[in-house]
Amino acid sequence: MYKTKYIVVLQCDIVKERCSGYLCEEAFHKREGGFADYPADEPIRYLNMTCGGCCGRATLRKLSNLFKLLGKRSDIKPEEVVLHFSSCICKESFHGPKCPHYDYLKELVERKNLLWREGTRISDQSESRRDSLGRWSREV
Ligand code: SF4
Ligand code: SF4
Repeated sequence: MYKTKYIVVLQCDIVKERCSGYLCEEAFHKREGGFADYPADEPIRYLNMTCGGCCGRATLRKLSNLFKLLGKRSDIKPEEVVLHFSSCICKESFHGPKCPHYDYLKELVERKNLLWREGTRISDQSESRRDSLGRWSREV
């Protein structure tokens, strides 16, 4: 069993036009939401990147570049890297329905034999609406 030394957060390129990704980073820093299982006292590096825009195919090239650089410039092994699909990709939210290319994105990530997890920052408000309504819905 490998320890996680490096986390890649994959974010929606469209949502990132107006989101800095701060809340994802904060959730990681506080080990909340999708990051709650990681020990707070372990040094874990963190990288944000976007899918590059629909249909997300650029993810494959970006991951290839990342693994090349990690191999050259660090002692981090591919097995010690975990990719998190940001909540705005894998869940319905204020920003809209989940990514229509989500299955394709997972296929790309699996091609690189990369471990992945769902979710990053989990908004309490979105979570309670998803629980109570079964889907995101505007309240009337
Ligand atoms: S999950 Fe939230 S904070 Fe993270 S990239 Fe998506 S919209 Fe931004
Ligand atoms: S492929 Fe999905 S995650 Fe990427 S920009 Fe399009 S909707 Fe967003």
